[in-house]
Amino acid sequence: MHLKDDYRQRGLRKKLVDLLRQKGISDERVLAAINKVPRHFFFDTALLQHAYQDKAFPIGEGQTISQPYTVAFQSQLLRVKPGDKILEIGTGSGYQACVLLEMGATVYTIEYNRKLYEGTRDFLPGIGYEPYFFYGDGSKGLAAKAPYDKIIVTAAAPVVPDELIKQLKTGGILVIPVGDLEKQQMLKITKVSESQVQTDEYDYFSFVPLKGERGWEK
Ligand code: SAM
Repeated sequence: MHLKDDYRQRGLRKKLVDLLRQKGISDERVLAAINKVPRHFFFDTALLQHAYQDKAFPIGEGQTISQPYTVAFQSQLLRVKPGDKILEIGTGSGYQACVLLEMGATVYTIEYNRKLYEGTRDFLPGIGYEPYFFYGDGSKGLAAKAPYDKIIVTAAAPVVPDELIKQLKTGGILVIPVGDLEKQQMLKITKVSESQVQTDEYDYFSFVPLKGERGWEK
């Protein structure tokens, strides 16, 4: 293990934050959180040089740790406030959950791949991050712990699952990439009232597929 965070890694992280700012991320609380989470802890020693590049990276099981810009973009759309109760669908490496925790949120995170779920559940508390971990199909949300202030989907969805809107509080925000398997448009859906939503459309991204009942495959 290489769990040290010295001036070199902190310097690289600061450069990554500067790059994200240049790319248009303006929420200082998001940038501060990215400046704090040691992304290199999520990489094998041999791959450390990739940790602070603005790129997605394979984490095994055919899955990825999202690109820092994507994590920052989604986190910014969520308008995270300290104390927010957030559901993350697609735990993966746990990096996105750490960013939300650094912003003061309480995080519920669900993962469909058992190996990734177990690996991340066992790893994150040891580096000081403690979301609530769940194993299962998150394409229908996590009704048992609803309602949420915010929901973030970190895999490509074919549609916006109704269940996710239901599980939001009024005034809550869902951030979800929706499209085909090649590219997806980032949507921010605000639950304006019990029966009304407002949808804002943003750039296109490329995520791994959301699986499960409301996803691409079971
Ligand atoms: N948020 C992650 C991170 O910070 O590393 C990146 C997530 S990765 C791009 C997408 C993740 O969604 C994968 O780990 C995948 O196994 C998971 N996933 C796919 N379908 C899912 C589902 N129906 N429920 C929960 N997780 C799912």
